[in-house]
Amino acid sequence: MREFDLLRHIYRSNDRLDRAVGIPPGDDMGMIRFGGGEVLAAVDQLVAGRHVRIETTSVELVGRKAITRSLSDIAAMAARPLCTLVAATLPPEFGEDRARQLFESMRRTCERFECPLIGGDLAFHGDPDHPLVCSVTVLAEPGPTPPVLRSGARPGDTLYVTGQLGGTMLDDGSGHHLTFDPRITEALMLAELLGDRLHAMIDLSDGLGRDADHIAEASEVKIVIDAARLPCRGNASWKDALQNGEDYELCFAASGSVPSEVRGVPITPVGEVLSGETGELPARLCVRDGDTLREAGELGWQHEA
Ligand SMILES: [Mg+2]
Repeated sequence: MREFDLLRHIYRSNDRLDRAVGIPPGDDMGMIRFGGGEVLAAVDQLVAGRHVRIETTSVELVGRKAITRSLSDIAAMAARPLCTLVAATLPPEFGEDRARQLFESMRRTCERFECPLIGGDLAFHGDPDHPLVCSVTVLAEPGPTPPVLRSGARPGDTLYVTGQLGGTMLDDGSGHHLTFDPRITEALMLAELLGDRLHAMIDLSDGLGRDADHIAEASEVKIVIDAARLPCRGNASWKDALQNGEDYELCFAASGSVPSEVRGVPITPVGEVLSGETGELPARLCVRDGDTLREAGELGWQHEA
């Protein structure tokens, strides 16, 4: 079963959510209302062997990425960070010194992005083959606008991305996926600038192809991405930009004029949002490659979770 099918199954069984749930499962963060306020929450895991190569990556960067990939979900909602909680399970030979370094790196990263680490748990697993797993929970509060959902894209919107895409996972323990800064400030500035013209947003963790499709699905629209406009990193091809993932940039749908950069980070229009009823498009997400309109699914990034 694919990750998304599994999650969807769980969410569908969740039909008696309390009225206090302002944003149900299925977005970058959930939200609950209480005591007159609103708190957003998300949990995510960094798994060695999947999200980082522990053999070639410094403990410092492993800790950094465990935190930044969760903070990226706060950016996706244009929310303001509140605090972080971490639970880590480490292989037995990891050792106490490195465990201390790992937590110190996570603590510093939390501090740097103003989402302080307020608690956590650490356990050494008994099985030497158990991978390092860091489970990170982040809480946030709404920013200048109500949280920006995946479901608000409208026909006529333009689809934008921040920064550059593709080629982030290098095998040598370096690469953008380890050193990126989550786009929290940029997202807050976009929300401030665009207000209610900022219709939908997601952070790019699975690759623009899959993540733009999440917007299309949640918003019940079709999206056409223009391959020639994709801002590719270094030698990355447009297919890499669509498929590689781990970009941790923002992808958003907005109407009206949008600045070409925010805080020096370029913003590129990469596609258009069309009505879900548009019959002549072969799929919910399509890619325009010169004169050819391809069904995005053909490009084959639906990997098994
Ligand atoms: Mg996300």
